[in-house]
Amino acid sequence: MTPEEFREQGRRMIDWIADYWKSVEQRGVTAPIEPGSVYAALPDGPPESAAPTAETWDGIFRDLDEIVAPNLMHWQHPNYFGFFPANSSFAAILGELACAGMGVQGMLWETSPAITEVETRVLDWMADLLDLPESYRSTATHAALGGGVIQGTASEATLVAMVAARARVLDADPNARPVIYTSTQSHSSVIKAAMIAGLARHPEDREHLRVIGTNADLSIDVEQLRAAIDSDRAEGRAPAWIGLTSGTTATGAFDDIAAVAAIRDELCPRAWIHVDAAWAGVAAVCPEHRGFHAGLEHAESYVTNAHKWLLTNFDCSMFYTKDRRSLNRAMSINPSYLKNAASEAGAVIDYRDWHVELGRRFRALKLWFVLRQYGVDGLRSHIRRHVEWTEAFETRLRRDERFDLPTPRSLSLLTFRLRAGDEPTRELHRRLNASRRTYLTHTLIPIEGAERSVIRFCIGAPLTERRHVDDTLELIRATAGEVLSG
Ligand code: PLP
Repeated sequence: MTPEEFREQGRRMIDWIADYWKSVEQRGVTAPIEPGSVYAALPDGPPESAAPTAETWDGIFRDLDEIVAPNLMHWQHPNYFGFFPANSSFAAILGELACAGMGVQGMLWETSPAITEVETRVLDWMADLLDLPESYRSTATHAALGGGVIQGTASEATLVAMVAARARVLDADPNARPVIYTSTQSHSSVIKAAMIAGLARHPEDREHLRVIGTNADLSIDVEQLRAAIDSDRAEGRAPAWIGLTSGTTATGAFDDIAAVAAIRDELCPRAWIHVDAAWAGVAAVCPEHRGFHAGLEHAESYVTNAHKWLLTNFDCSMFYTKDRRSLNRAMSINPSYLKNAASEAGAVIDYRDWHVELGRRFRALKLWFVLRQYGVDGLRSHIRRHVEWTEAFETRLRRDERFDLPTPRSLSLLTFRLRAGDEPTRELHRRLNASRRTYLTHTLIPIEGAERSVIRFCIGAPLTERRHVDDTLELIRATAGEVLSG
């Protein structure tokens, strides 16, 4: 492909993407297909030899239209209200394109200095925007140093925080028996990280992994946590890592960071506190939505995903730590082929020592472009309108006596169920998604001692307007009527 051919097909691809965004509303939100049908639609192998470029690309665009696009769940669809959003924007897409277009590697500062320095600067901007503690900035001067780095996912961030904590505890006492603490409502990535890090043997391993119960609002029960830490210490174990959540996956509950930090400081000062704010954290761009950060200065690390609710396409998890030394100590290896003068002089950041992978893309570009395109005001109004619309949705749903809203609304997330019970609630959920006019997710949460079915509603898609929220509310009410009348 020559640069001229690339120019031509590239323009066509940008057009294709722009058309996709313009018309996605006309599509069903989900794909009604049988497993295996996309696989079966593809040929047994790749072409032996290439056709002329234009012809090849005619075929590729045809397959995008006929095989790929109709068989997706459309996460950018304005009626997508499932899981948490994975929103994107044209600015981010252009950043992704520039990243691929340059094809550079930022594993060391030296292998492309701008990759590291743009990332460091943009993450310091974000620390300001989210009002994170000073100790999390690259400019922090305390002995353990701080700073932010882009990880692929919040799951990876949780893993590296745990690995750093393990190193910190085992450095102090090589015979220590580390224990991990988290709550029943934390994301599954915590238990997975403990298994990968060799700190838990299996998901049910309660010897090395304490899963603490919650209060009525589904935040971690700090007295239960205290009791668990006490009993582990009495048995000679070493509390190593406490995983808290700001905005749990099921209901958006917030753990009390300051209360947990007080227990940690009193009982096990070496334990590492990690705060997983994968979805909710970016709401802190709005000063009025920052309350849940109270006490964050006591935590060792924090993650929030720009790739969920901040208009930056996957993958872009912003991970911050105030103990950069332990993180680097746990992950730094120095083979001769990676040695270079800038690293040896300690004058630069080498992000390879901050995460699992060596090679790294220029992911900061897309976030940088988003920040420049939207400005602080643009990002704030993006978050604010979603919260406002969810509030309006909540008020109207509460007026309908057929529905119960068992947990408090959290930002742009709320849960609801039919008072008629679990089975009708699940049937309502099934019918709503089967309509393909919206997509919502379902979960189980403890209500008065029993696990109950609820439907989650979370606004976050960039194309959603108030009318989509209103229409979906009407759809939910009408479908509830059908379910309840049998
Ligand atoms: N943590 C929380 C609280 C989440 O809700 C999620 C996903 O929704 C994750 C972590 C996992 O995020 P990622 O896909 O970036 O690993």
